[in-house]
Amino acid sequence: MEKYDLIIVGAGPSGVFCAYELIKKNKLKNVLIIEQGKRIEDRFCPIEKAGKCLHCKPFCNITSGFSGAGAFSDGKLNSYHLSLHNQEGDLYLGGNGGGYIKQYMSSEDIKDLLAYTDEIYLSFGADPHLHGVDNRDEIVRLQRKAKENDLMLVDFPIRHLGTEKAHELYSKVEKFLEENGVEMIFNTSVLDLIIEDGVAKGVAVCDVLNKKSFEIFADKIVLGIGRKGAGWLSDICQRHNIETAVGSVDIGVRYELPDDVMKEINTYLYEGKFIGRPKPFCDRVRTFCQNPSGFVSAEVYDNNLTLVNGHSYKDRKSTNTNLAILVSHNFNTPFNKPIEYGENIAENVNRLAAGSVLVQRFGDILNGKRTWERELLTNSVKPTLKSAVAGDITYAIGFRTMTDIINFIKQVDHVVPGFAGGDNLLYAPEIKFYSNTVVVDKNFETSVKNLFCIGDGGGLTTGLMMASASGVKMARNLISLEDKN
Ligand SMILES: Cc1cc2nc3c(=O)[nH]c(=O)nc-3n(C[C@H](O)[C@H](O)[C@H](O)COP(=O)(O)OP(=O)(O)OC[C@H]3O[C@@H](n4cnc5c(N)ncnc54)[C@H](O)[C@@H]3O)c2cc1C
Repeated sequence: MEKYDLIIVGAGPSGVFCAYELIKKNKLKNVLIIEQGKRIEDRFCPIEKAGKCLHCKPFCNITSGFSGAGAFSDGKLNSYHLSLHNQEGDLYLGGNGGGYIKQYMSSEDIKDLLAYTDEIYLSFGADPHLHGVDNRDEIVRLQRKAKENDLMLVDFPIRHLGTEKAHELYSKVEKFLEENGVEMIFNTSVLDLIIEDGVAKGVAVCDVLNKKSFEIFADKIVLGIGRKGAGWLSDICQRHNIETAVGSVDIGVRYELPDDVMKEINTYLYEGKFIGRPKPFCDRVRTFCQNPSGFVSAEVYDNNLTLVNGHSYKDRKSTNTNLAILVSHNFNTPFNKPIEYGENIAENVNRLAAGSVLVQRFGDILNGKRTWERELLTNSVKPTLKSAVAGDITYAIGFRTMTDIINFIKQVDHVVPGFAGGDNLLYAPEIKFYSNTVVVDKNFETSVKNLFCIGDGGGLTTGLMMASASGVKMARNLISLEDKN
């Protein structure tokens, strides 16, 4: 069996940008990317034709395959380095802090890295137009109004690829990597790591189409397995004693409301990131991943959980805006398993929706009643996720989380009138499994020698731009480690 210099597990933006940067720096040697999903040109989500999620086997096409969750993502590239907020002081990297990459790099280095990564996206055809840089006066006015209502409104200029353009862009990246000598195998899952005396030596894999298992060896292994692989990674860390830290879990809903209500935010900011600590719990609640004229979507994870998400196309438009409202939960003693807690909630919501996503009107929640299918037919806000099942999400989401969400919606209503409209729709479960975080050093090396971890899966980053940037930085770290030896 051939031995590689480097194996990258996962062909998401983090893994792919790592390979890209090695090529650019003329340091690519014998590199293999192992991906459990398909090549980008074979990735296709049947939900639009079928009208419902078909639970693609062996893996969901939305979250697996070349470019990972990026291919079907909305393709909103956050230009954190250009944010008004970030020119004033500390670097703010999104609702969840952009992951814990800030622990390993200075703010200035992160800004440079993001500017460089942005240039790569532009070179592959990303839209040069940045949303949220004009109308600075209006943005400042909205930020002031938010502050008056105990909310923070963070601006991030955004480059919007759109779901279909993201697919096109990553196709070019796939071609670029192949033409420059990166070997890639698809439909192949890494099941385990081969570790001897605290040093990573290789991976045990399974060809999921032919059901063949075999081992592949390498000098170094980079894990870029995304949120989809977070559960697997957590098991692997336990099995091999790889050091982790307990993170938080973000639980909430996808909120859908008329574009008209969100007009100011959509026009001036494209994506408004509100952050608050509503009473009485004062938990951190935030909006995330806003999609003007977008569509709510469902995604299926390996553990068979169906979660809700949202995206928007560049050319196809709805008349609704959707965004996530997420509550961060931290646990300590005696229970510190945030992934299991989140999974449990998702499982209960799915059960109430016969395996799907639940949808309920905000007014019905306030009135203590479920929503019925027939009521959605005449509802002024028409659900864009047709497969969602009308019901009562308050049966599954805990009192604390639900209270946080309701009070936060009422709070934002003071800045965005109509935000608490009774016909607005809440979809559940929207859960972000950022945790557990894998402990890495400044080279992104784990407690196992020659084993590295990047991207969203180990908690280092959150989002496309940060995950891609972590791949670039990973490549540079590998080069400097090699130069030292
Ligand atoms: C519907 C949707 C919309 C989104 N919209 C946006 C957006 O607009 N803006 C934004 O910034 N972010 C968005 N995101 C999030 C963004 O896509 C992720 O932050 C980003 O893709 C993370 O990159 P990554 O490389 O860390 O992991 P991923 O993109 O998740 O890639 C990980 C890859 O690893 C593979 N893998 C996992 N485990 C294994 C294994 N054991 N063996 C082999 N392969 C494995 C997976 O199949 C996957 O292809 C969206 C996500 C979704 C699902």
